Amino acid sequence: MWVIETSEQDMSETSETHEGGCLCGAVRYAFTGEPVYSANCHCRSCQRAVGAGFVTWTAVKKEGFAVTQGEIKYCETSPGMHRGFCDQCGSSLEGHGDDWDENYVTSASLDDPTIATPTTNVFLDHQQPWVRIDESLRCYEKFPD
Ligand SMILES: [Zn+2]
Ligand SMILES: [Zn+2]
Repeated sequence: MWVIETSEQDMSETSETHEGGCLCGAVRYAFTGEPVYSANCHCRSCQRAVGAGFVTWTAVKKEGFAVTQGEIKYCETSPGMHRGFCDQCGSSLEGHGDDWDENYVTSASLDDPTIATPTTNVFLDHQQPWVRIDESLRCYEKFPD
């Protein structure tokens, strides 16, 4: 239990830092500001990249994102799309497109994954039959425009 004094809380509105990292601890990242949004991606690329039914991504502002320890290795998994991971433990950490406004961190790699609740399901045309969908979220067959 920790308490933020009112004056600190006011200051942190726009400059709060959130951190995350990989399973083995070699790679750490941080970003400032609040997450832009969070979504579950059910596309086949995400499924294969992490070996799971879907990936929950949290979008963060590009300018506020930084690797603070180690190095994220990138693989261009489709033209212009780069998936970043720890080359020691394989944790998926971050992904971005060449012309995207945001970086996407894997929500589960955040130190506090509860800071961003997913509001959306995308690429449900690739949904695995054994994944239950929360119908109360916005749901899209592809990626919405
Ligand atoms: Zn690692
Ligand atoms: Zn995906």
